[in-house]
Amino acid sequence: MMFTSKLPNVGTTIFTVMSALAAEHKAVNLGQGFPDFPMEPALPELVHRAMLDGWNQYTHTNGYAPLREVLAKKIKLLYQAEVHPETMITITPGGTYAIYSAFTAVLRPGDEVIVFQPCYDSYVPNIELNGATPVFVNLEFPDYRINWEKVKEKITPRTRMIVLNSPHNPTGAVLSAEDIAALRELVAGTDILLLSDEVYEHLVYNGKQHLSMLRYPDLLARAFVCFSFGKVFHCTGWKLGYCVAPPDLMREFRKVHQFNCFSCFSPAQVALTAYFSDPWTYLGLSGFMEQKKIYFGQLMAATAFTPLASHGSYFQCFSYENISKEPAIAFAKRLTTEAGVAAIPVSAFYLDGTDDRVLRFCFAKKEETLEQAVALLQKKFPAH
Ligand code: PMP
Ligand code: GLN
Repeated sequence: MMFTSKLPNVGTTIFTVMSALAAEHKAVNLGQGFPDFPMEPALPELVHRAMLDGWNQYTHTNGYAPLREVLAKKIKLLYQAEVHPETMITITPGGTYAIYSAFTAVLRPGDEVIVFQPCYDSYVPNIELNGATPVFVNLEFPDYRINWEKVKEKITPRTRMIVLNSPHNPTGAVLSAEDIAALRELVAGTDILLLSDEVYEHLVYNGKQHLSMLRYPDLLARAFVCFSFGKVFHCTGWKLGYCVAPPDLMREFRKVHQFNCFSCFSPAQVALTAYFSDPWTYLGLSGFMEQKKIYFGQLMAATAFTPLASHGSYFQCFSYENISKEPAIAFAKRLTTEAGVAAIPVSAFYLDGTDDRVLRFCFAKKEETLEQAVALLQKKFPAH
């Protein structure tokens, strides 16, 4: 039987590789991005209540309507945008699925998609599965800013989409007002669409603001904006999220969604509706997580790792240039097996071999976990 892989270059994601290695060597896992502290008990209690109350059948294919209404109110409060819950919001089984569905709804063979490297590892296989071609622009090391002149050079008549991710995984970079101005100028008068991955919208630090595509009517008019409840409420295993898009784009998105998933886990949608109606459930998140980032930074000062700036997300990158000349993947593996701490090599988020000797650490952890990890790092690689 003849069989040709549609994704011949895809192996096992770095998250699975590093988490398995961490488990095998009983290392402290600051690699894969997931919290190790419990979520607020009120939310799982609401899920339990919803199940007991009989919310156990399919909900609407676009998502439980009251949840979409609560989300529309949140979007109005935070981003001053009028987003119609009937026509512009769809609940999805996670942010990754929302991103995949958006690509699938609009990309055709021959289309080009601008992707900034380093990039979250699902984007490129998703684009390629749809027959489109990723066109890479590397962020400027070490602050990982976008060079818009370079973006302009990569635009062709085939450019169909630009993928944005702010706050950015793996670097913690966030879009600035200058970035938004450059983006608006670049796409004005074109048919270029935007895919904006904003799963870390509530995790922004250093006094910065999250500049969502939802704030700018001209950008929202051409955007699929993707979110994840897992990141907001410390329940990454729930795999629930949503996509916001203007009605014409959302109509196409729903054609993909209705025959791929149809509808998502009902009890959690009912629970989230009640939980979300109190804005403090998400307004306090940045402060809560920034404390962890600051604490982790203070601890890491006792090691030979050099911090790079992080303005958002679960992550902070550190250079190990003072420690080793090894490639990041080899160094990350050795750190796991020999020092007992797992991190993610940032080189795994590039497809062109770029390796600036940087590791990504996840600080969305209990203080004890961060202390334990840094004690191990300090023992092996103390500050000079
Ligand atoms: N985008 C980015 C940048 C992420 O870090 C994640 C993390 N998992 C996702 C999308 C996917 O979110 P979800 O787990 O809801 O699919
Ligand atoms: N988003 C998480 C991270 O970046 C992992 C998600 C996954 O394992 N696919 O670490």
